[in-house]
Amino acid sequence: MSVDFQNVIEKFPLTEVASHYIPINKNLANCPFHRESQAQNFHVYRGFDEIERYRCLECHEYGDVVEFVSLIEHCTKSEAVEKIKTSNLPLPSSWVLEDPPYDQSKAWSPMIPSPHEAPGYNWELTYNPVRSTLVDLGPYIFRSDPYHDHEGLLMFWVVRLTFNDGFQVALQVTWCVGPKNEQKWCLREMEPKFPLMGLDALVADPAKYVLLLGSEEDKSEHDRNTDGGAVAVTWFGDDADIAKTDWAPLVGRKIIYLCSDSESNRRAMQRIFKIVEIEKAGSG
Ligand SMILES: [Zn+2]
Repeated sequence: MSVDFQNVIEKFPLTEVASHYIPINKNLANCPFHRESQAQNFHVYRGFDEIERYRCLECHEYGDVVEFVSLIEHCTKSEAVEKIKTSNLPLPSSWVLEDPPYDQSKAWSPMIPSPHEAPGYNWELTYNPVRSTLVDLGPYIFRSDPYHDHEGLLMFWVVRLTFNDGFQVALQVTWCVGPKNEQKWCLREMEPKFPLMGLDALVADPAKYVLLLGSEEDKSEHDRNTDGGAVAVTWFGDDADIAKTDWAPLVGRKIIYLCSDSESNRRAMQRIFKIVEIEKAGSG
């Protein structure tokens, strides 16, 4: 049976099979496994091993083509293998999604800024509020950075993860209050707009030059080696998160835009330049 599993996983691309159940656009879809899914958060991707898998950035459901069919059809993995092998799949667009299994997300709300009594964030005890489980991010994390408001109060952590198959992602972790008033560090984004990383130092000294850097790594590197002549800031996420970031504190400042060595970062900097210098961050 395990030979069958491996054969099916290698021979039947997830993108093809999953499109019988859900519309997939440029490897992104609405997640069928939790309520109120956002389309950019269900990823279908090819890992180091050339196998296609899915990963949802909201409920954090994850797996290969067999696990997808077994979960969506409520059948065993052996039954899923048979369905895929014999093309016993619904016609595209004909599948009616039943109630998704997970719907806890609304019950947890971020407390922004996080209160002083919140304990320090521990990667090993990160709560997934959509599935009501604790997850240990320790094995996947390659950096974590705190973001503060203008007064230096903690708003969220950003964790950057690399999974074993090569999939990389940045997620926000916020201090949240749950349905029974319990509080935990949760995989949950605050409502935009997100603060710049370095906002407190930025507003503390309005006369200083600003270095806008392309990553938290670059900002930390600058902060370690700085002479204090300029203040370094960066933002959470990449292109997709530019619109969710509050750029207003940069308007009117003397800014040096420093791209890192990638085309996407160059494009991102151009968009930010336009928002800050031309549109004046939406303030007219
Ligand atoms: Zn999901």
